[in-house]
Amino acid sequence: MRTNNPNPLAVVRNLGILAHVDAGKTTVTERILFATGTTHKRGEVHDGTTVTDFDPQERDRGITIFAAAVSCAWDGHRLNLIDTPGHVDFADEVERSLRVLDGAVAVFDAVAGVEPQSESVWRQADRHGVPRIAFVNKLDRAGADLDTAVESIRQRLHPAPLVVQLPIGSEDGFTGVVDLLRMRALTWVDDTTAGDEGPVPDGLREEALRRRRLLEEAVAERHPAALEEFCDRETLSAGTLTAALRDLTLSGDGVVVLCGSAYRNRGIEPLLDAVVAYLPSPLDVPAVRGENGEVRPCDPAAPFAGLAFKVNATPTGRLTYVRVYSGTIEKGATVWDAGARRTERVGRILRVQADRHAQLERAVAGDIVAVVGLKSARAGSTLCAPDAPLVLEPPGVAEPVVSVA
Ligand code: GDP
Repeated sequence: MRTNNPNPLAVVRNLGILAHVDAGKTTVTERILFATGTTHKRGEVHDGTTVTDFDPQERDRGITIFAAAVSCAWDGHRLNLIDTPGHVDFADEVERSLRVLDGAVAVFDAVAGVEPQSESVWRQADRHGVPRIAFVNKLDRAGADLDTAVESIRQRLHPAPLVVQLPIGSEDGFTGVVDLLRMRALTWVDDTTAGDEGPVPDGLREEALRRRRLLEEAVAERHPAALEEFCDRETLSAGTLTAALRDLTLSGDGVVVLCGSAYRNRGIEPLLDAVVAYLPSPLDVPAVRGENGEVRPCDPAAPFAGLAFKVNATPTGRLTYVRVYSGTIEKGATVWDAGARRTERVGRILRVQADRHAQLERAVAGDIVAVVGLKSARAGSTLCAPDAPLVLEPPGVAEPVVSVA
């Protein structure tokens, strides 16, 4: 799946993990950092060692209160994970994180299916036009059932679920998945090592073929080019399926569904492959506009414009998380803070990698970094080149998020 696209921005994925509290967002994030080699020690939510939860208050409460952006690498791509709070009390923060990410993984609990907060966050993501894939988590739990969870996605959220895997085993015996595109099985022998790839087990072959057929039909029904191939050849190649699934994800006409058990570290590698294959790069999403209507392209050579979306007090200093939309922000440069209406000096620029920071000389359009040294910037402030000031257009007025839990 490695791409040789000459534009380095094509390998960036700014994504969030959206979920109902307890669906497993923190665990999924943690396992992604583990699988991508960002952390070498597995943190557990219950012992307070997860690496995305910086704040002691978060560890105490066991819920993710403050969003943080963490960078990791997978298959030649840079993934910037923007943590989005799942708790309804933090709807503003969810809203701000949705504004800066390009795509998302929605995590569902395989026993509970779609829960009220997953529904509110899903609607918020709809309003922001965020392309999504779904991960049905906790397949190891008693009572977990992928098909029931998928049906609740169809009925409560209304996208066409495009299920690309068949689980191998269930509940405690959930040991792997069949990749319906490649018709290969991935199985896990324990909870710490990567999966082993092999042929589809004989007993599952017929069911896998039936589900592959259902997937092909669902894709052909929604994608004109796929339909043409399907009519000609009565089947779709894995290449056509991948391209069509990406188009359907970007247009919101369908949602790719994967499954696994984050806790048992199962299903994380295919999830990362799906993030790379289906979610957009910063080049695939519409360019931002200023309030004056001026369009700022995702181009490192354009005047700098970015959005501060999170400010955290940390031992490293005041960290302002910035999504760079256009241009380049350089260490030591002066920027205009359109919110506070004053100039500010950029101190250090950091790429946050779980519990470590990499220092950068500059960050370019499409990237998400933490800036040290900004005194006035607040979450929601536009930062821009002093000689090309603008205020980024605010997102559409969001409906209040009402908890029906
Ligand atoms: P969050 O609130 O969405 O961030 O959810 P957490 O990641 O904190 O997980 C909530 C609880 O579910 C924790 O006790 C996790 O250990 C547990 N959990 C997460 N993923 C799984 C899973 O795949 N299987 C099982 N059985 N439990 C899980």
